Amino acid sequence: MPTTDKPVLDLTARCACGRIELRLAGQVRAMFLCACRDCQTATGTGHSAAVAMATGDVTVTGQPASFDVTAASGATTARSFCPTCGTPILARSSRAPDLVLVPAGLLGDTDAWYVPNQLIFARSHLSWDEVSAALPRHDTYRTS
Ligand SMILES: [Zn+2]
Ligand SMILES: [Zn+2]
Repeated sequence: MPTTDKPVLDLTARCACGRIELRLAGQVRAMFLCACRDCQTATGTGHSAAVAMATGDVTVTGQPASFDVTAASGATTARSFCPTCGTPILARSSRAPDLVLVPAGLLGDTDAWYVPNQLIFARSHLSWDEVSAALPRHDTYRTS
């Protein structure tokens, strides 16, 4: 079993067409699933699987396009994607400006270390999208 410690990454990933390269070097800050409507729309699936990294630990090579979405919470999310193949590259939220959210699926074989610890925005989670019943769920963000 993978441990629940936050892994230290040193890896390079590419979008589906290869024009955008993403380098992650540093310790993962958080790993979670998000079932908000914006993530469902942007990913085409039931939830996003996010890896949160410090902004300085992520380097993008190439020219992603981006757009802003205002979330129900009032926060603004800027989503970057490859303008050629459409692969989501990363997202930034005004709620956590020092973090970058990277889609786990972009990072290749993450089985050894990707251990999401919560499902956020469970209020819009869809029943056909199966998620481990053991995963803590929060209606919106985890209340601290
Ligand atoms: Zn691409
Ligand atoms: Zn979301």
